Amino acid sequence: MLKLFGRLLCILGLHDFHVVEVTFSFGVGGNVSKIECRRCGYVTTRHE
Ligand SMILES: [Zn+2]
Repeated sequence: MLKLFGRLLCILGLHDFHVVEVTFSFGVGGNVSKIECRRCGYVTTRHE
């Protein structure tokens, strides 16, 4: 039931992200984190 609820949140775009990798940058853009959803495995990037 909880798992199903989690999948529903993913479908709505509310992923349970955790940081996989952080790319350090001293430029204007700042650091970029590679994040992955624990539930569905969706991977994206986030600017810190
Ligand atoms: Zn997800």
